[in-house]
Amino acid sequence: MPKCAKCGIYACHKGELDKLPKNCPITGNAEIFDKATAFYKEDPLQIACRSARVESAGYTKWPRIREIMEFAKSCGFKKLGLAFCVGLRKEAPEINRIFEENGFEVESVACKTGARPKADLGIRDEEQVHPGKFEAMCNPAAQAMLLNKANTDLNILLGLCVGHDTLFIKHSDAPITVCAVKDRVTGHNPLAAVYAAHYFKKRLKD
Ligand code: SF4
Repeated sequence: MPKCAKCGIYACHKGELDKLPKNCPITGNAEIFDKATAFYKEDPLQIACRSARVESAGYTKWPRIREIMEFAKSCGFKKLGLAFCVGLRKEAPEINRIFEENGFEVESVACKTGARPKADLGIRDEEQVHPGKFEAMCNPAAQAMLLNKANTDLNILLGLCVGHDTLFIKHSDAPITVCAVKDRVTGHNPLAAVYAAHYFKKRLKD
């Protein structure tokens, strides 16, 4: 089974096939790598090729939002779907504006769309974030379905919660990329818990 995260050699990165470690997934899986390459070549959107070009053109220059727009333009995507969390309702209009100013049509859907109570999911009042009050469920499947209905070319995730993003990805017809993930503790920067591990150590365990 692949254990690349524990490799430490990363011979694949430089094409040094004579230095592959013992448990390297490159060994014995030629069929898989051939199949993947064939997929990239046959993909009518040529996503792998276009994203590699965006990567090199903006390497260390373009922020993620610019990369998303360059990638979208390169693929000929004109209508973007912005699936956002209401926790990022200040950021969503800003991102919407940037996309529109760059010539995109934008459809956007907030996570609480539908205004259905969490009770519909079987969440008891005491399990709510704020017991005793109306709490709308996050509705990632509906977010995706609404954007499917709007025929978006590319959907962009903005701060959906863990699991809700899983469901959005499952239900979206259009390809998806991520602008930001939800992390209420680190300003939506999950790697802060890795970079500042000495501060977060105790919070990463039960
Ligand atoms: S060299 Fe092999 S094991 Fe190491 S990171 Fe690359 S693919 Fe994974």
